[in-house]
Amino acid sequence: MSQSAFITGATSGIGYATAKVLASRGYRLGIAARNSEKLEAVKQELEMKFNSEVYTYVLDVRDAEAIKQVAAQAVQDMGVPDVLVNNAGLARGLESYEETDEADIIQMVDTNIKGLFLVTHAFLPGMVKRNTGHIINLGSTAGLYAYKGAAVYCATKAAVKTFSDGIRIDTIDTDIKVTTIQPGIVHTPFSEVRFHGDKKRADAVYEGVDTLHPEDIADVIAFVLDRPLRVQISDIVIMADQQA
Ligand code: NDP
Repeated sequence: MSQSAFITGATSGIGYATAKVLASRGYRLGIAARNSEKLEAVKQELEMKFNSEVYTYVLDVRDAEAIKQVAAQAVQDMGVPDVLVNNAGLARGLESYEETDEADIIQMVDTNIKGLFLVTHAFLPGMVKRNTGHIINLGSTAGLYAYKGAAVYCATKAAVKTFSDGIRIDTIDTDIKVTTIQPGIVHTPFSEVRFHGDKKRADAVYEGVDTLHPEDIADVIAFVLDRPLRVQISDIVIMADQQA
């Protein structure tokens, strides 16, 4: 049977590009995000273009109970996924810390850390039981080098890297792989989300910058997944050419 992958945040940007690349390679897909219409549109596109088997799951990764229910349903639909791509995540505001809204702090921590931890917690036991699986976690260069006004976002992405290293150690006696992908600047709706829908402010972030494309990250994910079993890639840092 073909390989399967469960991708959070698969309706936009990096997650969407990853869904397309994996679908083009014959993966069966479980795709999750909050917006059901976008999920259905992605499913239809993947079915049309690649004749893919796609299951959609409306999921807010901040909701612990919903994660358990969706994971159980996904396992019923497609089996324990061969690949879990923990991609759902966001930045909010990014003003200096004292000016950051409490709600934004909570949303970043609950999505980027708690959500990613609990989605992993829901799927990992099945992978361990089977002895195989590949967990791809979306960190960021923001988790490696803090920058001004982004203390919370950077801290959440540092947590993703440390968590990935921790579960890699925990599963060392299995054939499970854990990879943290740490991109620099990628042109996606990320900045619009960050600035609460202010497109003008979001566009200014990318002005004059030859940014990465979401497909660049998806291609790297596909490369990581294509390695033979003996190879474990712990981290990939991928930046735009002009970034240092
Ligand atoms: P996008 O805003 O384009 O996509 C984010 C995706 O996550 C959407 O599908 C969104 O769907 C989903 N999502 C957001 N919140 C939740 C939630 N609570 N529950 C479930 N799904 C959710 O962002 P990117 O593609 O740019 O970012 C993807 C990942 O890559 C993030 O973790 C981000 O931190 C990381 N990253 C991005 C970089 C960049 O420059 N763009 C650089 C480095 C890392 P919906 O709103 O329907 O839920």
